[in-house]
Amino acid sequence: MVKDGIKLAWDRYDEEELKSVFALGERYRKFISNNKTERRCVNTFVEMSEEKGYRNLEDIVEKGEKLKPGDKVYVNNYGKSLCLFVIGSKPFEEGLSILGAHIDSPRLDLKQNPLYEDTDFAMLKTHYYGGIKKYQWVAMPLAMHGVVVKKDGTIVDINIGDEEGEPVFGISDLLIHLAKDQMEKKLKDAFTGEDLNICIGSIPLKDDDKEDEKVKANVLRILKGKYDIEEEDFVSAEIEVVPAGPARDFGLDRSMIMGYGHDDRVCAYASFEAMMEIEAPKKTCVTLLVDKEEIGSVGATGMHSRFFENALAEVMNAVGDYSEFKLRRTLANSNMLSSDVSAAYDPNYPSVSEKQNCAYFGRGVVFNKYTGSGGKSGSNDANAEYIAKIRAIMDKHNVMWQTSELGKVDQGGGGTIAYILANYGMNVIDCGVPVHNMHAPWEVASKADIYEAVKGYRAFLLEA
Ligand code: MN
Ligand code: MN
Repeated sequence: MVKDGIKLAWDRYDEEELKSVFALGERYRKFISNNKTERRCVNTFVEMSEEKGYRNLEDIVEKGEKLKPGDKVYVNNYGKSLCLFVIGSKPFEEGLSILGAHIDSPRLDLKQNPLYEDTDFAMLKTHYYGGIKKYQWVAMPLAMHGVVVKKDGTIVDINIGDEEGEPVFGISDLLIHLAKDQMEKKLKDAFTGEDLNICIGSIPLKDDDKEDEKVKANVLRILKGKYDIEEEDFVSAEIEVVPAGPARDFGLDRSMIMGYGHDDRVCAYASFEAMMEIEAPKKTCVTLLVDKEEIGSVGATGMHSRFFENALAEVMNAVGDYSEFKLRRTLANSNMLSSDVSAAYDPNYPSVSEKQNCAYFGRGVVFNKYTGSGGKSGSNDANAEYIAKIRAIMDKHNVMWQTSELGKVDQGGGGTIAYILANYGMNVIDCGVPVHNMHAPWEVASKADIYEAVKGYRAFLLEA
């Protein structure tokens, strides 16, 4: 919203505040550069929260300790999703203030039997995760991050391609000189999922006993030496192929960040920073950082799983205030910001946006009353009464905010985790940071919007 005649957040900052905007941008830029998988995000968030006094709820339950107002705990769900709680002074039944965002991002996953040799190249087969435009992933440097779990349960961390001096990987593209047939195809047909094979080596093993697949054998030798893993260990592995290299400042004025995984780590990080500032709140504050949003919030680590409900039951029990009835009331009386990135107006593609109801860079945190597609289908559609409450909070705390829908009516659409939490009967609204290039290997976001998101999330946790 235009406030005091000022449209852009940048015009509101004095020297001092501008420093804070860029300092936050730099903290976030480093975070997404170093945390390109949901597992790494959870690890880092756990470490950072422990520094702020958060404790693992499992330890508290095991020791039979009680929780009291002001206590901070986290629940780590399979190392892929995380719930953070700060216990409030009010009874749980008055409801929680919940921030939620997802930490999985579109990428290529290695298949369970990925490795093969073709014409003296060692190659890896992939299966893409989430909605990607496949052509964007070829002819660019890729890194691999993930885990291989051996039969004895040993977890081997794999991280290759992001450190200085490490090799990168890639998927070849067809040279323009021979692309006559390909160029005639529709964009969606020109690159298929089965074409997204990654080249990882070309030197044969020096072994006179072995007649064929010597390049593959050499790659296996390297894997054995570096990680002590065998080919069959890929069966119990989760290795994610992501763009290689750090996020970068974007623009001569360094006002933006280009990086992998803004969707939705930008909202996750902003929520996390806001949460870390909360001490002794009135209502219990919660931050949910979840996996699997990009494939429908399914599985034990996605929002459809009941891990949050279970975690809340444990927390209420540790406070000494649990009953099934109280749990239901607590959930129904809660307020939530479901934070996910929004499509920002893009001057290169003006035709897909409706200018009066779309998000713009530099105008602050975005609220989406609804998302969905084909007539709001699948959307949460927040209550007007709740939106009134939220805008009052934002204005009271001088947060720059805007409203948006996801593109023109019937242009496409999308969803978030909002409707899943709304199933409990709580108030939920979609909210987040506008981005360009959503789901591309390199997305772009404005540092001003990230800063306003943290301010907005903090205001919500204090007041909602
Ligand atoms: Mn998202
Ligand atoms: Mn997404």
